[in-house]
Amino acid sequence: MDENKATRGNDLGWSESSARKLQATHCSHCGRTFFPAKEVCSSCYTAKSIASVELSPFGRVYAFTIQRMMTPKWGSQPLVVCYADLQLEGIRVFGRLECAPEEAQIGLPVELVVDDREVAPDGFVYYHFRPVVQASKES
Ligand SMILES: [Zn+2]
Repeated sequence: MDENKATRGNDLGWSESSARKLQATHCSHCGRTFFPAKEVCSSCYTAKSIASVELSPFGRVYAFTIQRMMTPKWGSQPLVVCYADLQLEGIRVFGRLECAPEEAQIGLPVELVVDDREVAPDGFVYYHFRPVVQASKES
């Protein structure tokens, strides 16, 4: 394998498809799921039972904070960053939360998203969370 062609995005677990999907690994022996993906289970110390799995992009905010010291890339507006627990696997992922500071709350339903503007030429993939707008339940 030509190591210079390995993309960092893949190292972090993003598929190459145009609809980017979040990839992790799952150990069928102990049941643990790893993101970023691991080649060897850190619980069983084996690679035999490790397989790639696709993660759900949906989850809920576990914790958040508002960052007020900005870099030029993000402008002068406060930035919300959070840890969110992915819904199905319980994996906790850190990222920017695309909402106004006053809208952020623990337990907020979110979706992890990435688009082409967030893939750098060197292969780094950036992602963020955005709130999931839930349809009102009318009966
Ligand atoms: Zn294991």
